[in-house]
Amino acid sequence: MEETGVLDVGSGACIDERQRSIITTGRNKSSIHCSDDSMAGSVSQRACVFCGARVVLNPVTDAIHLVHGPIGCATYTMDIRGSLSSGSELYRNSFSTDLKEKDVVFGGEKKLAACIDEVVTKYHPPAVFVYSTCVVGMIGDDIIAVCKAASARHQIDVIPVESTGFMSGNKVIGYRAAAEALLKLITPKEGETVQMTRKLNFLGEYNLGGEKWLVERYLREIGIEINVAFTGDSTVAALKQAPGACLNIVQCTGSMHWVAQNLERTFGTPYIDVNFFGAENTAESLRKIAEFYEDEEIMRRTEVLIDREMKNIQPAIQKYREKLTGKRAAIYVGGAFKAVAIIRQLQELGMEVVFTGTQTGKQEEYDRIRDMVDEGTVIIDDANPAELEKFLLEKEVDMMAGGVKERVLAFKLGIGFVDHNHDRKECLAGFEGAVRFAREVYITTCSPVWKHLKQTPPCKED
Ligand code: SF4
Repeated sequence: MEETGVLDVGSGACIDERQRSIITTGRNKSSIHCSDDSMAGSVSQRACVFCGARVVLNPVTDAIHLVHGPIGCATYTMDIRGSLSSGSELYRNSFSTDLKEKDVVFGGEKKLAACIDEVVTKYHPPAVFVYSTCVVGMIGDDIIAVCKAASARHQIDVIPVESTGFMSGNKVIGYRAAAEALLKLITPKEGETVQMTRKLNFLGEYNLGGEKWLVERYLREIGIEINVAFTGDSTVAALKQAPGACLNIVQCTGSMHWVAQNLERTFGTPYIDVNFFGAENTAESLRKIAEFYEDEEIMRRTEVLIDREMKNIQPAIQKYREKLTGKRAAIYVGGAFKAVAIIRQLQELGMEVVFTGTQTGKQEEYDRIRDMVDEGTVIIDDANPAELEKFLLEKEVDMMAGGVKERVLAFKLGIGFVDHNHDRKECLAGFEGAVRFAREVYITTCSPVWKHLKQTPPCKED
């Protein structure tokens, strides 16, 4: 198997066609197979295309998010990001056209138009995002035409999000649908002007536990202002000012690289990648931003901030490092930028990353992950629960960092778990976030509960 570059995952837990999506560093020479549709029957950990679009757009706080489809699609994604807002709470609702059998037979366009009229009359939003779902894709409702007519009727942006769930087996396509909707919103219309500034846009930041506010505080201290974040704690009016920024910084590359590239092409705004998860990553990102401004005072303030914050957190990080050194970790998350950040943080804590993967990583991101981990680490793209279980056990993992769908699996296997999902409430970014993360990793990895669980004899029948 090694000569072909394909890992022999054996034991029947893995589907043969999935073998190219699983590699072991040092053993496999070939690149990992990724960026493809999920395989039918594999029960991917990914969500659908519509869900991918909604996680990107939902934090726009004062917009109406109207799901054109059966009620289940809206329920499944209600408040999906858990993002925090400093103003409107309108986005935390989940509006739906609640399509039924009759609508499937006769079409849902009239119902959609009536729903838009109703929510606009009742809530007076500055914009409405209309998401299409699987059913809408099947019956062929023309949501573009309905949105255009509604926009003319109400004189606000009514933007179609073409995110039919089954459009692809890869939720990245939903990110793209959301990006197209965002670009429609922020591109100035005839007669509209945008003020050019020295501020920056923060792309791929969703303010789950107040991360946007934390980074805003750091940047303000060094003399830089955020123009608008995409899309955490954003408003429609703020997003429309996006072309006025002098720089775009991109954190979640999976959801926002395409937007950044388009903003560069259309408005000439350059972009750089940043990562505010982990102390070293935060320091590096602040230095990158400061360098862009080519201002000695900004660079001086940046070094003062980094020096102070690093000194503050070192004793706590060292304390957890002593407890965690040598423990074995696994990571399975949505985006590769997050996997890269967590690998670095766990290594800084003295842990060995023995198994890692993502739902939507790209080739160059997997190459970077490969360079970061030790020989023998299993790397997996678009995993299913059977594969996760197999490698968590085989690699004798002590702690897993992942999302909501991995949590139950880890706990059932008696493995510690740290939630790095998009609905968590703890701020894990920045210097203080690094300490919070280390504390969470320590508590779960070193919890006495795992020892007792493994000692418990199997239940006897009466
Ligand atoms: S869009 Fe399709 S796959 Fe997504 S939640 Fe709705 S029915 Fe399910």
